[in-house]
Amino acid sequence: MTFRDSASGSGGSEGVRRRGRGRGGAAAAGGGGLAVVALVIYLLTGQDLGGLMGGGGGGGGAAPAEEETLGDCTGADANTDVDCRMVLTWGSLHDVWAVTLPEQADLEHRNPEFILFQDSVGTGCGNATSAVGPFYCPPDESAYIDTGFFDQLETQLGAENAPLAQMYILAHEYGHHVQNETGVMATANRTDTGPQSDGVRLELQADCYAGIWVNHASTVPQEETGEPMLVEPTTEEIQDALDAASAVGDDRIQSGAGQEVNPETWTHGSSEQRMHWFTVGYEGGTMQDCDTFAVGQI
Ligand SMILES: [Zn+2]
Repeated sequence: MTFRDSASGSGGSEGVRRRGRGRGGAAAAGGGGLAVVALVIYLLTGQDLGGLMGGGGGGGGAAPAEEETLGDCTGADANTDVDCRMVLTWGSLHDVWAVTLPEQADLEHRNPEFILFQDSVGTGCGNATSAVGPFYCPPDESAYIDTGFFDQLETQLGAENAPLAQMYILAHEYGHHVQNETGVMATANRTDTGPQSDGVRLELQADCYAGIWVNHASTVPQEETGEPMLVEPTTEEIQDALDAASAVGDDRIQSGAGQEVNPETWTHGSSEQRMHWFTVGYEGGTMQDCDTFAVGQI
């Protein structure tokens, strides 16, 4: 998906930030690729990606984290530079949901925060490493992404590291924030696993909400410019997003890791389910279309 030259911004009032490990270096916590996470976080994938990500030993520890705000970007920057693509995509997600949530759910929208990190990060949900992949933490209403994940998407998970593939991942995490706002996150039973479980329904709804964003991103105007930030996606770009959704399906990750495909353990849904619900959101564009809890078989 291509940004218009007129698009600009910093990703919201707080901006998009990159959080470092802190001047004192990472205090050794845990070790290995496993995340130390105190509270429930909402992930892009259901698998520990430790083997994929490599490194990442230790949590953020006690050292105060340094933070830098990425700053303003133009549409031209966002079409070529990953950091700027993150910044303006986040801004577009704000624009779309600031309109969609009040219109379709009669709720006021709060912009979530967005933190980029490397290897490990301290969050309102505890310390996490890159091994968990992109995630959303409800207590601090923030999404966290190690952009190194985008390379892994290509080299390990078999999807192309294309712009709309990256944007789909952000839009999925933003979808979890919307679920936090609607309250569905609090009522779903997340201890359940399996292809029809509440947990999978939550994840597929986040995929569907990502599709809603793609549907509206080329029509909802940016307040500052009066023009949408993005032009309509091409068929090829939509395919890039679908390929990414497929790559993070539980069946695909299980078989890719040489494991037996076991639907009873699924937490995020199969490749087919994930592509289906992204498409439902993209084609329908409404939150009602994305009510994964209202259908018998998802
Ligand atoms: Zn998720």
